[in-house]
Amino acid sequence: QTDTLYCIGCGAVLQDKDESKSGYAPTKTLEKAAEDEAVYCKRCFRLRHYNEVQDVELTDDDFLNMLHELSQKDALIVNLVDIFDFNGSIISGIQRFAGQNPLMIVGNKVDLLPKSLKQSKMRQWITEQAHLVGIRPDSVHLISALSKDHVMDLMEQIEKARKGKDVYIVGTTNVGKSTLVNQIINLATDESDVVTTSYFPGTTLGKIEIPLDDERMLVDTPGVIQPGQLSYYLSAKDIKEITPRKEIKPKSYQLNEEQTLFIAGLARFDYISGNDKQSFVSYFANDLYIHRTKTEKADDLYSSQKGELLTPPSEDSEIASMKRYEFVTSGPSDIVFSGLGWISIDQADTKIAAWAPQGVDVLIRKQLI
Ligand code: GDP
Repeated sequence: QTDTLYCIGCGAVLQDKDESKSGYAPTKTLEKAAEDEAVYCKRCFRLRHYNEVQDVELTDDDFLNMLHELSQKDALIVNLVDIFDFNGSIISGIQRFAGQNPLMIVGNKVDLLPKSLKQSKMRQWITEQAHLVGIRPDSVHLISALSKDHVMDLMEQIEKARKGKDVYIVGTTNVGKSTLVNQIINLATDESDVVTTSYFPGTTLGKIEIPLDDERMLVDTPGVIQPGQLSYYLSAKDIKEITPRKEIKPKSYQLNEEQTLFIAGLARFDYISGNDKQSFVSYFANDLYIHRTKTEKADDLYSSQKGELLTPPSEDSEIASMKRYEFVTSGPSDIVFSGLGWISIDQADTKIAAWAPQGVDVLIRKQLI
């Protein structure tokens, strides 16, 4: 009779039976884990040591099981999302998984958005976006998990909303869950960095329970790596380069038809046709290199300059070839490259092509800013 063993990277239950399923590790590794050694599943191990993404099934069974368990609990469910990557980080089935439980959506990393953006507008936008994917949160909050004050305010809101119940914090990887949970622990204990944070997807430790003052628990559940997000395919160094650290400074580009923007070597935006010369505003990490060229020259430029002028990706990232998506706007819109940023378009009937490495989500949404 052995205890269940968890990967310390993604929190998946370790198993040595099926390589294609989550939590797989060789039998030797499992034996080490059984002797209380901290071990990674093969996927996290390879991701960390070789920047190699393993081909595993899209549905992470463990994550779904964990979410499924939520509906059996009597608890407040707090879904932490990254507002800089809302669509990539929202858990689309969360309403179903929450069941009868109250659901709170907390948008993190508010410090990255322009200060001019009103919080009430932002909350309204999150609520609308949530409704679009069938999620009806009981409340929506905005924080920066880096700010102790924000986290204190949030804890007050949670305290009011939980009505004596347990609290489950759920979120996909990279939304800042460890950062938030660290802050919460700090508030309680003043001990810093109890939970590991890092740029790297999959570093939330499996299941952390923080006692609340009425014998209830605040439970930090493990995250899951989202294959639609660009960070899934990048090395730790490249993730660092694309991750915004400070308030994003929007950059405006006047483009003619048949002009192209490269966002480093990770995304491409072609203005195909529309109302003649137009202004496009980009929202990416401030230092990310953006290159303008003629669309007819773009293919050649990409093949000769990827990893050179157009970097990241550096050579330690293994990204797939670029896939093209075409969109026509019907009003003010954002073209989102999941995990990287977005380009905003004001005018309707603008036809564009957006490219990103195969597997990375590219979508159009109502303009945020
Ligand atoms: P987890 O995978 O959800 O546990 O995410 P982490 O806590 O490891 O955070 C992922 C990345 O986001 C790290 O680089 C954090 O420093 C960063 N981060 C977390 N919270 C915030 C925030 O409020 N603002 C900003 N700018 N970055 C944040």
